[in-house]
Amino acid sequence: MKEKDIINGFEVTRVRENNEINGKLWELVHIRTGLKAAWLDNGENNKLFSINFKTVPWDDTGVFHILEHSVLGGSESFPVKEPFVELIKSSMNTFLNAMTFSDKTIFPVSSRNEKDFLNLVKAYLDGVFKPAIYYNPNIFYQEGWHYELMDRTDEPVYKGVVFNEMKGVYSSEESVLLQNIQKLMFPDTCYGFSSGGIPSIIPELNYEKFIAAHKEYYHPSNAKVYLDGSVPLEKVLKMMDEEYLCNYSGSDISHDIPMQKPVKNAETVGYYEASEGNEAKALLGLSKIICDWRDQKKTIAYDVLCNYMTATNESPIKKALLDQGLAQDVEMFVDDSIQQPYVIMIVKQIDYDKKNQIIAAIRGAIDGVLNEGFDKEKLHSILDYLYFESKDVEEPKGLERNVNAMRTWNYGGDPLDGLLEDGSFDDLRKAIDSDYYESLLREFPCDDTETVAHYLLPSLTKGEEDYQAEKERLAEAKNSWTEKEMDDILAMNEKLAEWQNSADSLEAINSLPKLALSDIGTEPAVMKTEAIERNGITVLKHECDESGIVHYQLYFSLADCDEEEFPAISFMSNLLGMIPTEKYSAIDLEKRIGRNMGYIDYNIKTFGSQNSTDICKPYFVVSLSMLEEREKDAIDLLGEILSNTLYSSAESRTMIKNILQQCIEIMRQEIMMSGNRYGLMEVQSQFSSAGAATEMTEGFSFYKWMKAFDENFDAAYGDFVRICERVQNETFDANHLVVSVASKRDEDDVSEIADVFSKNKPAKVPESKAVHYSNAPQREAIQIPGGISYAVSAGNLHRLGYAYSSEMDVLSTILSFDYLWNEVRVKGGAYGCGFSAGAGGGIGFSSYRDPDPLNSIDVYNNAAAYIERFCKDEEPLDKYVISTAASQEPLKQARILAEYADTDYFRGIRYEDRVEMRRHILQMKKSDLLKYADLMNRVSQQKAYCVVGNEQAIAKCRDEGWTVESL
Ligand SMILES: [Zn+2]
Repeated sequence: MKEKDIINGFEVTRVRENNEINGKLWELVHIRTGLKAAWLDNGENNKLFSINFKTVPWDDTGVFHILEHSVLGGSESFPVKEPFVELIKSSMNTFLNAMTFSDKTIFPVSSRNEKDFLNLVKAYLDGVFKPAIYYNPNIFYQEGWHYELMDRTDEPVYKGVVFNEMKGVYSSEESVLLQNIQKLMFPDTCYGFSSGGIPSIIPELNYEKFIAAHKEYYHPSNAKVYLDGSVPLEKVLKMMDEEYLCNYSGSDISHDIPMQKPVKNAETVGYYEASEGNEAKALLGLSKIICDWRDQKKTIAYDVLCNYMTATNESPIKKALLDQGLAQDVEMFVDDSIQQPYVIMIVKQIDYDKKNQIIAAIRGAIDGVLNEGFDKEKLHSILDYLYFESKDVEEPKGLERNVNAMRTWNYGGDPLDGLLEDGSFDDLRKAIDSDYYESLLREFPCDDTETVAHYLLPSLTKGEEDYQAEKERLAEAKNSWTEKEMDDILAMNEKLAEWQNSADSLEAINSLPKLALSDIGTEPAVMKTEAIERNGITVLKHECDESGIVHYQLYFSLADCDEEEFPAISFMSNLLGMIPTEKYSAIDLEKRIGRNMGYIDYNIKTFGSQNSTDICKPYFVVSLSMLEEREKDAIDLLGEILSNTLYSSAESRTMIKNILQQCIEIMRQEIMMSGNRYGLMEVQSQFSSAGAATEMTEGFSFYKWMKAFDENFDAAYGDFVRICERVQNETFDANHLVVSVASKRDEDDVSEIADVFSKNKPAKVPESKAVHYSNAPQREAIQIPGGISYAVSAGNLHRLGYAYSSEMDVLSTILSFDYLWNEVRVKGGAYGCGFSAGAGGGIGFSSYRDPDPLNSIDVYNNAAAYIERFCKDEEPLDKYVISTAASQEPLKQARILAEYADTDYFRGIRYEDRVEMRRHILQMKKSDLLKYADLMNRVSQQKAYCVVGNEQAIAKCRDEGWTVESL
């Protein structure tokens, strides 16, 4: 294949080879329709296909977000209700999703298996070009919104998956701030609109406008196809040309986005829902447009400056605000996913009355750097860190490359420009010796005419006001309906329910191409572990093929620590590298970490036992990845941080207090955004030692511990320091240590680590620990502000008389993507739901952004009956086995695969066990699942629930006698 060649209706327009992309970039154009395609031919085993449409919103109804959901809800060749879910259940995909951005909608799929890959491509092409939305409006009602009304005397409510998803998004004050500030900054272009949709505006969208948007925007002339890895190019081109593009001719409609002229001196105020008892304060967003999409170097340079000015508590702007008590935290970043990248600074927990002092403090910090000059060493360290980050890409890597290529391609630019970055880094290193950074800092968003400012103030009444406003809109709508309209709405609800309750015919399900069990290998592709003893330390060796990078995980056992100390030790993990050590100040540390450590993270992990709920293995874990040539320096630095951090100095004390308050706020946001995870931890803590340890180091009780520490800081500080110092002196030593290493090198020498963490005492550390747990099921509710909820029902296999088996992974797939998907998401309107059973024994149901959590708990309680029905019907089990087998060998970066392998090691699962689990599920029959109906009955009888939710949901829990707490 070469330039000007014509293949299946496509002409090759350009071919370029480049070392940075490890291969060639082929560009093609479909002659008849003008559809453009690019293939990054890099030989990678994982194959990615993405069809990307330029979708430019003109209002806040979320029309493109609803389309993104809806086109995956049935199509001409695959007339099932949800091909998307069928594919999740039956394929070996390594990625399967779709995303709506501010100016594009992308549909990426990937797989390592060629047959599977082609199946997925076909299903996605059919969905985007021949969706069932044209003849089935139920899809729009279900995914978008509708008035739910089953009886004319009822009050109608809004239902819809996107409607609820967006209520969840906008219950985060930062999402509200970002939306408001974009509105302010881009009044004349699509970027002022919420592409996801604003819940109060979504109901302005009707079915006709929705269909018109598909017709205009989901056209080949408006599409760009990105391919990555060892894809069978000719087969993909042939499928596109012969089955889809042949139905179209070219179109001249273009969707150019005008350039926004900077808005002068704009400042606005908005409100978010705050909770009572929480001294929530205001947020400030300062933002400005920095350039257009062509200037990649400038966007990276701004990244450097954001990092320089605000990354840590010692950075100039953050330090000035913290020292003067004007804010609790500052976050700053560049959004380069749109035509005109912008930079935003978010100043958190501020007092609106002090806004002039805040701006003056920021100005002062900027002027301070301009007067004294930049610390060049720090600029170098930030560039090193950002460069490592640009190479340390999450899998599937092709997905990130698709998004990067679209940074330029979507605006008519060269896709290769979006894929290449190294040149910008070279230029930016050279620029350190010029006045380049000074000139950019002079334009930093602060008090000049092109900066826009938005203050988001807390309101204790906004939640109730929004709730009442929604009720009024609904009442008004109902009052305005004529008899005929009322009849139509009732009929629509009936039809929708009938459609949702109908099962797809087996014939329809079989229309989807799928793999056979024989396509599945008998040996799971998981990272292997070799456990050896070196220098008196247990070393878990993993092989990986990433060249030039080494990944370490250091596990320090906490089995000989007092469980009362666990929350303190968990909090301590946030201090490492942030507060001074004997040798280095906090600023020196920051520079050294940036230069030498690519990725560094400290946390607590607890592994449950396969055989008993009464013991667990808690560890303090350090994850460290770096370039090979930095290895020695990185390990020396880690030794200094773990062994010589100063916890008790006056300087550290102030820093610890600041970090504590920031951690509380970050966790408060997390609980609101991922209530399902916190609910699961809460319930599982009742039934096992591992559950209890996890909850007290990561869960809601850890949050309460931090808040109590903050309120009682002066009195509790001394004890806290004693715990940190004891862990530093006694736990961070070779006796407590297991080292895991993943690299391409075949050496297994860890003498450097052994030198750094010598043995303190010849003490024997116990293997595991018994952490106390209540063993009494409870019904608990945690009230959060915002319009959304989460519902959990959970337990522990061992306590219910079961042991873990890989069959349960298949059961999880079936329950999550069949039963719960239909009942909780499709009918219940929740954005997400799932069931999981882990080898550690924890099992649980959960829902995500759920409008009716108690209803979801009823659904969980009926799972036994579902399993019985499932075992009787004729649908084969194969597809569930195939997707489960694939999920047991996920495509991940080496660091994460090493973590998975380590988890198996600590739980006593060997590679041979994984092979046996694979063999076992490949031979499974439906009748093997019947015994789990009894397990589900036991889970439901024990009534161990947690609802994390809004005021209305929690009021119902309170009425039923649950224990209620507030965030
Ligand atoms: Zn969505």
